[in-house]
Amino acid sequence: MSKQPNIVMFLVDDMGWQDTSEPFWTEPTPFNERYRTPNMERLARSGVKFTQAYACSVCSPSRVSLITGLNAARHRVTNWTFAKNEAKDSESDELIFPDWNVNGITPSPDGERAVHAKCLPEFLRDVGYRTIHVGKAHLGAFDTPGADPKNLGFDVNIAGHAAGGPGSYLSEQGFGADWRGGDNHWTVPGLEAYHDSGTFLTEVLTLEANKEVDRSVAEGKPFFLHMSHYAVHVPFAEDPRFIDNYGDLPEQEAMYAALVEGMDKSLGDILDRIDKLGIADQTIVIFMSDNGGLSAHGRDGEAHTHNKPLSSGKGSAHEGGIREPMIVRWPGVTRADSTCDEYVMIEDFFVSILEMAGIQNPEQIGGVLDGRSFVPLLHGQSGVSTGRALFWHYPNKWGSDGPGIGSTSAIRKDDWKLIYYHEPSAASQFELFNISEDIGETTNLAACEADRVAALRKELREFLIDCDAQMPVDKRTGKVVALP
Ligand code: CA
Repeated sequence: MSKQPNIVMFLVDDMGWQDTSEPFWTEPTPFNERYRTPNMERLARSGVKFTQAYACSVCSPSRVSLITGLNAARHRVTNWTFAKNEAKDSESDELIFPDWNVNGITPSPDGERAVHAKCLPEFLRDVGYRTIHVGKAHLGAFDTPGADPKNLGFDVNIAGHAAGGPGSYLSEQGFGADWRGGDNHWTVPGLEAYHDSGTFLTEVLTLEANKEVDRSVAEGKPFFLHMSHYAVHVPFAEDPRFIDNYGDLPEQEAMYAALVEGMDKSLGDILDRIDKLGIADQTIVIFMSDNGGLSAHGRDGEAHTHNKPLSSGKGSAHEGGIREPMIVRWPGVTRADSTCDEYVMIEDFFVSILEMAGIQNPEQIGGVLDGRSFVPLLHGQSGVSTGRALFWHYPNKWGSDGPGIGSTSAIRKDDWKLIYYHEPSAASQFELFNISEDIGETTNLAACEADRVAALRKELREFLIDCDAQMPVDKRTGKVVALP
């Protein structure tokens, strides 16, 4: 393999840990039986599967962390972005939310309420990569420079802008939101050539991505493909290619399963293309999702159960909101059909991808990076995450209620996870779970593990102080909510 491998970052939106026929738990589950993802299986057979990969619980924080190497507490894009200078937090009876970076990333140092950072594709471009964004961006608010991936280091932008979801997956609807009374902010941009073509959005993005792969090879440049699907985010739609495979499921679930299968076909088509071009042995493929599967609303069946055995889903600090399916294939480095149970975090992708590209010790604006390279894990090293703490910070309100959903900060260290709830009326101020023994987070051990709670609180508190993290204000007292 040459010194500069091609890198495909295949990022799925809102895909849960169980939304696949490839088991990520110690045993197959009914969901593994339901979903059909043969190309994820194919990638897993030829690479390494990570069973404890984590992201943030909603879109923008994860995406900004991936592309900057910073934890959400530090970059302050703690909730999802949309309109300029406007927070999308739901109202809370108890909390006033902080002035988080509602505008996302800014390429200029004078951006207001936005994080100014040097982005992953900028580093890659500096060393000769052709940098391609395809699909959902959701990195900066409308009417700000960060809305356009081309302002963040991408040479090519296909279909990416400020919105975090498609108006529609259907070409007959122009990929816009008219059909549901939505405005043109939701229209997936730049795909006019496919309107009324009968081509499903996931397929459109795949065709366009493969064209860019071809162009990169023709130009003789290493490429970084940020293949960032709108699937499997709402609004669900019937993918006619796959919907008939799920006739026994309720309507929403059938559409969802077909979306998952369409996403998987995209992965297969890209793997096929790099095989055909003879570049598979020079191409790293990374599979990841940006947050847990939607479960609090918009699904058939009982809420908070769609990621079982995990508790809850998107928007939650419980495992269902943050644990993701991750696979990496690096020819000549990863061992085929292997599994890694060490935990990794979304900001780790930044340093890891740069290391893959030969960039060691990247210098981020501000001089700090939170991500840690998982390349040693790809080489088969173990014990790397022992004693390491992972952190989540969400001083915001997503909308729905449910287990782990709310304004929270959390820490995972070894077997244990501690969640701190910011609302004064929370049923428990702290939840402590032994994730290794209780993956479903059914038993809160905070009351009987006082020493452990104290130690984790201290470590979480010190991290938040180090980040200068923002906390909400308690409406009753007018005071900032105390650090954990
Ligand atoms: Ca998402």
